[in-house]
Amino acid sequence: MSGITVTPTDTELQEQATLLRESHPALGVGKLLAQLKIDHPDWSVSEKRFKKFVSVTSSAGSDATNVNVNANGNGNGDTIGLTSTSTSVSQSKSTGDDALIAKTGIDHSIDVSKIAPKVKVKMFNVDGKGKGLVAKEKLQMGELLWQEDPWIVTNDASLWPYLSSHEMCTQCLTLFPQPNPPLSVMCTYCREAHFCNRLCYSKASSSSSSSSGAGCSSSAHNDFLCPGQNPGCSALLSFIHQKKARDLDGVARIIASWKREREYGDEKLAKEIERRVWGSLARVSQKAKEEERREWPFISKDRMEEWRLTHLLILRALNPSPMDEGYKPFQKFLNSKRKSKTTQPLSNEEEERWFSFESFLELLGLIGLNQESSGGLYALHSHLNHSCEPNVQVRNLPKGWIAPTPSELPAELPPPMTAQTRGTNRISMIVKKTIHPGDELTISYVDQRLSRDERRTKLREQYGFWCACQRCIKEKKAEDAEAQTKAKATA
Ligand SMILES: [Zn+2]
Ligand SMILES: [Zn+2]
Ligand SMILES: [Zn+2]
Repeated sequence: MSGITVTPTDTELQEQATLLRESHPALGVGKLLAQLKIDHPDWSVSEKRFKKFVSVTSSAGSDATNVNVNANGNGNGDTIGLTSTSTSVSQSKSTGDDALIAKTGIDHSIDVSKIAPKVKVKMFNVDGKGKGLVAKEKLQMGELLWQEDPWIVTNDASLWPYLSSHEMCTQCLTLFPQPNPPLSVMCTYCREAHFCNRLCYSKASSSSSSSSGAGCSSSAHNDFLCPGQNPGCSALLSFIHQKKARDLDGVARIIASWKREREYGDEKLAKEIERRVWGSLARVSQKAKEEERREWPFISKDRMEEWRLTHLLILRALNPSPMDEGYKPFQKFLNSKRKSKTTQPLSNEEEERWFSFESFLELLGLIGLNQESSGGLYALHSHLNHSCEPNVQVRNLPKGWIAPTPSELPAELPPPMTAQTRGTNRISMIVKKTIHPGDELTISYVDQRLSRDERRTKLREQYGFWCACQRCIKEKKAEDAEAQTKAKATA
């Protein structure tokens, strides 16, 4: 910091005040101003001026706010006060439509201006739509907005054979040109996970606060999920593999990544993960979501059994009780990792928050709403809302891809990847068509080649909302017009 201060414009201040109010509904003006000074250390704002912009009444005092799921980002719920953890999220009957309700909020751990300087977070707060990303300036086709590594790695089951045969890096998913290439390393504990080099190994397993906002390690090979360090996880891992259950894998990794930081990592990171998971990312109980499926009465027994079993396996692997078999080795594993500090035992609230069955179902729902197929959970990417006519493309580009320079814009989009040029799990956000300042950035959660009905049904089933994007509206009008013409012709 140079120490130079600037006076924000009314618009800038209004926006930040709204953001802060949304994410801290219960805080007073003084505390919000303190947070504003943390977020914008270079701003000079008096309390009197700030008061004018921050609404005191809006949602003050409310609990975690529930809003309709509209893609990834909505409303707020930065209430890590441990009061509403197990509130089950259910269908909204009162709003007239039958949208599922999710809890979400702002993620203050992400420095958006650093990761994506031309983009900012916006709270929409209309029609159940919460946060999203908008352009700060004009963006041109082919422009790279930002690149991001997953903060929770989950892989498509089709890649698992490559990983177990040591043909691919567990962290970044680079295919090795030959078995055991020079510089590559294996996990020293289990000899099962293989990495491009030491850097990939350390990103996968240890915390690094350097950060692209992701803070913690990627959990691609979390210590708690390494059979060499925690033999108790083997049963869980083989169940996940046998079921090819990527979502369950994701849940285990989220809990393991929090637990790792909480037990012997960085306490600040543990808090950050806690806030991101329970205060920011859109989440909804998986059970509430699946209860809406027409076939639920026929599958409920099997689904519940599978969930109960996975939950039990997670408890045994990640939070065993002294009565459990294998508890001693687990403790030894933890102790060997501890350096000086003594670990505070988990509080009852923490146990409830992370290890109850209800929480498990919410984490499972969270994975369903936020997981990007190419690699897991991404901190900033998960802010992007859906459109069937998106203006941003998410790409997995090969290592060494070079973004067009400003003078080369507008540019063609990168060509589709082939087996030889397959990318890593680092995602690149590329502008698909001209975007004007203030326009929302959107991606498509579903295959755009599907028909209107197919897209909308998929979005409803998987993400809980009925799409009403420009394209859906246009196509509906065209369909209606066609039906009318037909009706007239037959009349
Ligand atoms: Zn290992
Ligand atoms: Zn790698
Ligand atoms: Zn649509």
